[in-house]
Amino acid sequence: MKRCRHLIFVLGDQLDEHSTALVDVDPATDIVLMAEVPEESNHVWSSKARTAFFFAAMRHFAAVLEMRKIKLDYRRIGAHRFDSLVAVLSDAVRQYRPQAIVVVQPGDWRVEQALLAFGRAANVELQIREDTHFLCSRRAFADWASGYKQLRLEFFYRMMRKRHDIMMEGDAPLQGRWNFDAENRRAFSIAGPTNAPAALRIRPDAITREAMADVETHFAGHPGTLDHFAWPVTRKDALRALQAFVTERLATFGRYQDAMWTDEPFLYHSHISAAMNVKLINPREVIAAVVDAFEAGRAPIEAVEGYVRQVLGWREFIRGVYWLDMPGIREANHFRHARKLPAWYWTGDTQMNCMKQAVGQTLKHGYAHHIQRLMVTGIFGLLAEIEPKELEDWYLAVYIDAVDWVELPNVAGMALFANGGRFTSKPYIASGQYIKRMSNYCVGCSYRPEAKIGNDACPFTTLYWHFLDQHGEMLARNPRTSLMAKNIARMPDADRAALRVHATMTLNSLDAL
Ligand SMILES: Cc1cc2nc3c(=O)[nH]c(=O)nc-3n(C[C@H](O)[C@H](O)[C@H](O)COP(=O)(O)OP(=O)(O)OC[C@H]3O[C@@H](n4cnc5c(N)ncnc54)[C@H](O)[C@@H]3O)c2cc1C
Ligand code: SF4
Repeated sequence: MKRCRHLIFVLGDQLDEHSTALVDVDPATDIVLMAEVPEESNHVWSSKARTAFFFAAMRHFAAVLEMRKIKLDYRRIGAHRFDSLVAVLSDAVRQYRPQAIVVVQPGDWRVEQALLAFGRAANVELQIREDTHFLCSRRAFADWASGYKQLRLEFFYRMMRKRHDIMMEGDAPLQGRWNFDAENRRAFSIAGPTNAPAALRIRPDAITREAMADVETHFAGHPGTLDHFAWPVTRKDALRALQAFVTERLATFGRYQDAMWTDEPFLYHSHISAAMNVKLINPREVIAAVVDAFEAGRAPIEAVEGYVRQVLGWREFIRGVYWLDMPGIREANHFRHARKLPAWYWTGDTQMNCMKQAVGQTLKHGYAHHIQRLMVTGIFGLLAEIEPKELEDWYLAVYIDAVDWVELPNVAGMALFANGGRFTSKPYIASGQYIKRMSNYCVGCSYRPEAKIGNDACPFTTLYWHFLDQHGEMLARNPRTSLMAKNIARMPDADRAALRVHATMTLNSLDAL
């Protein structure tokens, strides 16, 4: 066979027709390679929903390329013998003898290292091209970060608003404020989310059903279920999901972005992280859509600013931190925690109702919103002294939007404080009282959120006070947590001793909670 010019390797989270790898594709001389490989679903025990989401989106994307008459070598799971991306690439290089391999910067340091090592060993030109999906390149983030002692979202976010002229009036933020948190982040009244619109669910088409069937065949023992799979896996449907969010939920997004409610997995969130992360939609068009809604008077500034902060701020910031801090962040374990993840993280089978809800919907849909991830499954990991790697692998496995660049800093940095506060000013910790305030989970629970010790003591509350007891000195030194340190210092010695006994018992029986 004649040598091909470019072997363009399109990874599962690079499904953008206009990516830098595809921008100069020549159907006469180039071949696009895509592959479903066991390793990407096995290196962490990926849920069925996560793998199905990737396979279905990849197969639909392959169909788009084929319609454009681009030559495609698509290796379906089960139809080839290779375990890893590099093994497939190696086979393709042997077959097509390309002048160069072209790939967009991967979203996973592990994959990038493997490709670089392959390029060196195979002695073939490897072009790793910029991922222009993001508004802030890795280099631009590193340049920005070099000017700061501490990395803080707020400074980054303001710089990005100015640099990209988003919701600005000259040099000042629209309406004179950067932050509308005071108007946002409320809990529901006792009636709950009475008018929450149904989330857009997409009935799987033939291509998606086939991908789901392949997942059932090849990953039969993996966690979760596909019975409720209804995610957008094409650009067209992802744009529909964005539109549905903007017209039906954006106006209420800010107010209830932190609220949780029993059997309400979707609420007022946008549910487009997975579509964005595999690049079916671009953050620029997402930001433009919500800003347009504000300008047309269809959503208040607090909702729109709150949302732009997530996409232009947090999402870009987290990616920047990942590439700046890899591979060190993967090893970070500030508190030297070493406990195993309770088995019920993989089943939802626990008496803690908040966990049952958050884990249950995660296994059912591959989705939980930010506060469920941070303040329920996340901080429990911190309070229960779980080894960071255990929880990081869980998060990477169970969410359909999980890609290493976004999962790892959120878990290690935000939820677990494993990197010692590299980009957060304090550990996020709370007792069961926070969950009681922000949800109705405690109503249906066998535990009592106000109780620290005793058979019906809420494990969050017990372990929260235990954390204060263990880390009082550190918390006292930080102005943002010094009040917490004072609270534990005021606890009488006898109560503190009883707390220690009960906390030790709780920590030693995490699986039974
Ligand atoms: C412990 C933990 C793990 C997380 N793991 C992931 C992950 O694997 N993949 C992922 O995409 N997000 C992750 N997040 C961020 C956030 O929880 C999800 O992006 C969000 O819940 C996705 O749902 P949504 O699209 O309805 O978001 P919305 O609430 O509607 O928010 C809008 C968008 O903002 C972006 N965003 C918001 N917060 C963050 C953040 N902290 N980091 C990056 N982007 C953000 C997302 O793209 C999201 O789609 C994690 C957060 C925590 C605390
Ligand atoms: S009582 Fe504690 S464990 Fe139960 S739902 Fe409330 S916070 Fe969760």
